Amino acid sequence: MKKWIAAATASVLLGSYAAATVYAAPEPSLEPAKEAGALEVRRSAYDRLALMTGLEWEQVAALDQYERTLRKARPKARPKLGSWAGLYVTPDQWSGYLNPDKEDRNSTSILFFGGIGKDGNGDGKADPTNDIDLLYSQASAVAKMGSSSDDFLIGVWEFYHNMRAVQRVNQFAQLYRTHGRLNLEGSAFPVPVGTHYSYRSTWGTARGWGGHRTHEGTDIFADHGLPVRSTCYGVVENMGWNSYGGWRIGIRDLDNRYHYYAHLSGFDKSLRSGQAVTPGQTIGWVGSSGYGKPGTSGKFPPHLHYGIYRDRGMLEWAFDPYPLLRQWEKAEFKARKKSKQAK
Ligand SMILES: [Zn+2]
Repeated sequence: MKKWIAAATASVLLGSYAAATVYAAPEPSLEPAKEAGALEVRRSAYDRLALMTGLEWEQVAALDQYERTLRKARPKARPKLGSWAGLYVTPDQWSGYLNPDKEDRNSTSILFFGGIGKDGNGDGKADPTNDIDLLYSQASAVAKMGSSSDDFLIGVWEFYHNMRAVQRVNQFAQLYRTHGRLNLEGSAFPVPVGTHYSYRSTWGTARGWGGHRTHEGTDIFADHGLPVRSTCYGVVENMGWNSYGGWRIGIRDLDNRYHYYAHLSGFDKSLRSGQAVTPGQTIGWVGSSGYGKPGTSGKFPPHLHYGIYRDRGMLEWAFDPYPLLRQWEKAEFKARKKSKQAK
């Protein structure tokens, strides 16, 4: 069992990016409203839950963050139950499928009927509208298998029965571990601003070369060899050749978005799959690789193809990166101007 889950996780982490059905969809909102729950409140809750369950705070935070991203992707199907905790469960899951009392708040009878509901805050009730009870119910269900990193991943598998969920939670925990904090917001334009490049909105237009899928991303035309930088805090999910994208890198962020950089001429040699990256970090260089066997190059002018996909649990949706690119570019120009004025 352990070997199996480790192998499966590794193959998901290292395997080629085989997107489940990809639909073109507009992103619901460019700047999602800030979630309730200050970061300090969340952090102290995660610390408390870590003590209660034997998990690391980063693992508790990753579980909660994964649920938050699922809610963000499908807010109507997964409404908020508490005030900020991510976990969404049905009354059946909380109280147990065979429990005749779907409003059961007694943790002993819930346990008897196989529900996940638990009392985390010690008020004598397993309350699915209480943040600590929600977090404790999820974390202790996962921690049942043990707290080593293998056992943790098995626990996540047992909870979701979905390898993508296991991979996400593992990536999020890795990001929190690397940086030691919850706040990992920040952005960068994917090539250095102020250099020679051009791009325009091409969402959904037919591809200019090869294939007949619609264009899922933005092409940034630039000279061969211009640095390509991570736009976000994230974890390298895929690196290597794919027949459309050539040498490509896929990076997963804490928002459960997959950032796809294609047609590179090469990768930064120090990068590895599973490694954390920061906004502005060089990950590779603009090139014209792709549309053929590994190594094929020069079938089109050098450019960076940049795409963003959002994981909705079982499948990923592409959305138009153009408005975000404009926003990130503007933010960097502004920051540059400020730092020049300061000097
Ligand atoms: Zn493109």
